[in-house]
Amino acid sequence: MTTPAPAPARAPLMALEEALQRLLAQALPLDRRMDVSTFDADGRVLAQDLVSQLQVPPQDNSSMDGYALRCADVPQAGAVLQVTQRIPAGSSGKPLEPLSAARIFTGAPIPAGADAVVMQEDCEVVNECEGGVRVNAVPQPGQWIRRAGEDVMRGACVLQKGARLTPAALGLAASIGMDRLSVQAPVRVALFSTGDELVMPGSIAPQDMKPGAIYNSNRFFLRSLLLRVGCVVSDLGIVPDQREATIAALREAAAGHDLILTSGGVSVGEEDHVKPAVQSLGSLDLWQIGMKPGKPFAYGKVGASHFIGLPGNPVSSFVTFVLLVRPFILRLCAQTVVAPKSIAIPAHFTLAKGDKRREFLRVRRNAAGGLDLFPNQSSGVLTSVTWGDGLVDNPPGRSIAHGDLVQFLPFAELLA
Ligand code: AMP
Ligand code: MG
Repeated sequence: MTTPAPAPARAPLMALEEALQRLLAQALPLDRRMDVSTFDADGRVLAQDLVSQLQVPPQDNSSMDGYALRCADVPQAGAVLQVTQRIPAGSSGKPLEPLSAARIFTGAPIPAGADAVVMQEDCEVVNECEGGVRVNAVPQPGQWIRRAGEDVMRGACVLQKGARLTPAALGLAASIGMDRLSVQAPVRVALFSTGDELVMPGSIAPQDMKPGAIYNSNRFFLRSLLLRVGCVVSDLGIVPDQREATIAALREAAAGHDLILTSGGVSVGEEDHVKPAVQSLGSLDLWQIGMKPGKPFAYGKVGASHFIGLPGNPVSSFVTFVLLVRPFILRLCAQTVVAPKSIAIPAHFTLAKGDKRREFLRVRRNAAGGLDLFPNQSSGVLTSVTWGDGLVDNPPGRSIAHGDLVQFLPFAELLA
């Protein structure tokens, strides 16, 4: 009797950190700049440091409607001062004489000589015709005065090259006088889905779907995810599971695009044509990652374009996008890439046996400060993603007991 030879040991899958590092090493920033109106710059990556030519606010100004005065003139409550000028926002007053006050409004510059503002609620107008005001509270020097430059100093860099612009950042840029901004041109992505089973919603009614057919869901969320990170997307539709068609689609996609992103067809079955098609046209530099979901992930080059093949299973596609494709694209568009911050939160669920691979579980924060687990963690169940508000990053082989602290990655961190 012969003992069968032991099966050859399979090489361990590449760890996610290593795959990410390798990807980022390939993602040289494109650094194609363009000028846009500050109005249109939300979500774009700044291609210049924004240095202020002025201080904000430009002068000391009042943060209240009231009276600007000298504290020394109001040693006790009830002192009466002569109102000698009126300074609305947008105008500037004259120096304040001793024992006088200026009627002042929010945002108006503090007149020279004044060292405090008393809000109008603490003042009374007296002998209206002669213009007197009784000050009913003893002021403290500096009160209700916003100091020149307290927001931005002249010469300060308010936003750095590589920052992604937010609504507040547009306001800040405008506050230092920027009406146009130099930003990174969008990354151009060609997107296609593979799979003979795929049908576009709208082309066949649900009741008329043939057995085996499913609607193409990946195309919708991948396009949206790409748009959210500021890409322009050429949607090349659905490519059938045939080698020649896949090669033709990749060739078309490589022209004029920085990145080709596909879903499906990158696994090990004989209907998976994407990997050999990429190999025949260019190079495949990375394939399969030790993560769940998301093992069948591929990176390579087709001509000058980067190629990323995502798994077909919708949750795998989603998770690999947020963990790998998003940082890759941020690097391409020269954004300063900050690793998403996870937080330790108690699991309000159990996981009897951790997977061999590093696993990303779809979970949701509950009112008791813990995490609930979506009951079906299958990589085909997209409901787990819409139900959840983040992922638990669970190391290989780790089981989870109720109350254990686990690493929670909020979707907000991964989609921002
Ligand atoms: P594949 O990676 O091509 O082997 O596909 C894995 C699974 O994901 C199969 O069940 C496919 O039907 C499904 N799938 C692939 N592409 C899509 C898509 N675009 N939308 C929804 N499901 C998909
Ligand atoms: Mg397929």
